[in-house]
Amino acid sequence: MELKKCPRCGNFYTTELEVCQNCKTNESLDVEKVKGYIEQYGISGSIEEIAISTGVNVKNISRYLKSGQSYGISGTEMSSSEVEGFSGSEVNL
Ligand SMILES: [Zn+2]
Repeated sequence: MELKKCPRCGNFYTTELEVCQNCKTNESLDVEKVKGYIEQYGISGSIEEIAISTGVNVKNISRYLKSGQSYGISGTEMSSSEVEGFSGSEVNL
């Protein structure tokens, strides 16, 4: 079985999930917050803005944006470089 490293806490785990069992609940709460924000405001600002409004950290948001479809977040099929460019834009709030 493939050992995965949890992107939230760094623990190793072996499920098919994106994060470990311990982080499962927080992960889905964060996804819901980011999803709700994007549904309401779209991705017009920066990742920092989304982070401030949702309380979800930038690292997790960029992870959701990179694979938006697997999280059920629409309109976010961004490539890694797009996400990096996006998070680098409009840092001044
Ligand atoms: Zn974890």
